[in-house]
Amino acid sequence: MKSHIRVCSAWREVHDRPVYSLSETCPDCGSETENSAPAPFDPNDPHGEYRRALKRRHR
Ligand SMILES: [Zn+2]
Repeated sequence: MKSHIRVCSAWREVHDRPVYSLSETCPDCGSETENSAPAPFDPNDPHGEYRRALKRRHR
C-alpha cells in the first residue's frame, strides 16, 4: 500500500515537529510539502544494522 501523505519540507526550520498534509503546500506555513519519509523501521537499513552491532558490542 502506498501512502500519499506528505510532510512540510521546511518543518525542521519552521515547526517543532513534522507537519503532515495531503496537499502540496503546508497548511501551517505554506511551504511546499514532500513525500513523507518511509517507515521509521527498515530491516534493510544499514545504519540500523550498525546500531544493532554497536549495541551488541556494549553487552
Ligand atoms: Zn510548514
